[in-house]
Amino acid sequence: MSAAITAKEHHPELRVCILEKNSDLGKKLYATGNGKCNLSNLSCKNPMDVYKFFDSIGIFTRTDEAGRLYPNSEQAADVVAALINALKRNDVEVKCGITILSVEKKDDTFEIQIQDDAIRCRNLLLSTGGKAGPQYGNLGEGYAYAKALGHSVDRTYPVLSPLECRGDFVSLKGIRSKGRICLMQDDRPIATEDGEIQFSEDGLSGICVFNLSRFIRLNPKKSTADAFAEYSISIDFVPHQDQRELENYLMRRASRTVSEAGQLLTTIVHKRLGEDILKRLSIEPKSSASSLTMNDVENIAGLLKNWRCGIQGVKGWKKAQCTGGGVPFDEIDEESYESRIVSGLYIVGELLDYDGPSGGYNLHFAWESGIRAGKAIANDQV
Ligand SMILES: Cc1cc2nc3c(=O)[nH]c(=O)nc-3n(C[C@H](O)[C@H](O)[C@H](O)COP(=O)(O)OP(=O)(O)OC[C@H]3O[C@@H](n4cnc5c(N)ncnc54)[C@H](O)[C@@H]3O)c2cc1C
Repeated sequence: MSAAITAKEHHPELRVCILEKNSDLGKKLYATGNGKCNLSNLSCKNPMDVYKFFDSIGIFTRTDEAGRLYPNSEQAADVVAALINALKRNDVEVKCGITILSVEKKDDTFEIQIQDDAIRCRNLLLSTGGKAGPQYGNLGEGYAYAKALGHSVDRTYPVLSPLECRGDFVSLKGIRSKGRICLMQDDRPIATEDGEIQFSEDGLSGICVFNLSRFIRLNPKKSTADAFAEYSISIDFVPHQDQRELENYLMRRASRTVSEAGQLLTTIVHKRLGEDILKRLSIEPKSSASSLTMNDVENIAGLLKNWRCGIQGVKGWKKAQCTGGGVPFDEIDEESYESRIVSGLYIVGELLDYDGPSGGYNLHFAWESGIRAGKAIANDQV
């Protein structure tokens, strides 16, 4: 949509048509940012290009403390409506409910076979997204179109997704805890995030967990189970204190403030998380707090600072917000997003091998690459 609007604004005589398989445009946009649509982020590359585009189509935005850009109304539906209005104002043709059967290039013309018809065009822009969110229509057919036209596609995998973990998560389900979470590969830390960690019945969720999921790269030479077994999670529930400070505090508390071991962790972590920690150390919650040894306290502080679980998997495409892998960047020109393999073909958005962290980076990339490609197509036709 950003490409079509930009192309028409730069070259009003151009005939531009969007082919959309869903019955309406922007189905996934309604679900973005929990229905508020986190449009972009001030830390993205070229934030002003995207900001100017929103301004030109009448989206009034605001930025939060983390630089995330939203429509001020916090209604994703308003963003879809503004885009559709701009498409109408610029006379962009929109054909919804289309099934594309094949895509090929014959001489200078692209031919898109749809049911009972063929559409021919001088320029073709592929913006079909990836495989994340199949419930919104994203099944990844775009990779087949790119391949049919001569591109390669790097292995795709779900990212920005909850993690399935080993251990007793049923008893922890529903807990939300602030902390520092670290992704480990073969016991080496590879990425760390601070934020709210959410426990589900089979693992971990929350924005900080989604962001860590981007760093899991499965070894293709191993079975899926063995490849995931390389990865584990370490959580520090008290990042503002070091282990020694925490031990001293717990020791004082055990001897003076609480009577039972089960009370030692109240107000430090959620009750059920405290129970999990004592259970892992085989400490009976009803036992006397003053009978805890220095070794017990060191172990409790150790688990508060380094609570571990193994990773069994990444939740599938339905729960993922983005696709890792895709059409490699070295096959397109990064200024115009034109293919280096097929002239007149443009590839933008999630179909490319791009995935950003949570916070507006993925939509930003989709808008920005679309704007650049739209301008390039308009200039190509002048
Ligand atoms: C639940 C959820 C929440 C998210 N929230 C955010 C957020 O707040 N901020 C953020 O930055 N990112 C967010 N993302 C990620 C972001 O939505 C995507 O990265 C971005 O939409 C990708 O844009 P795109 O244009 O490349 O693809 P898409 O937005 O997926 O658009 C592709 C379009 O092509 C259509 N299409 C697909 N295949 C075909 C076909 N064969 N024929 C015709 N049409 C086809 C699809 O129906 C769709 O309309 C979220 C993702 C999900 C799933």
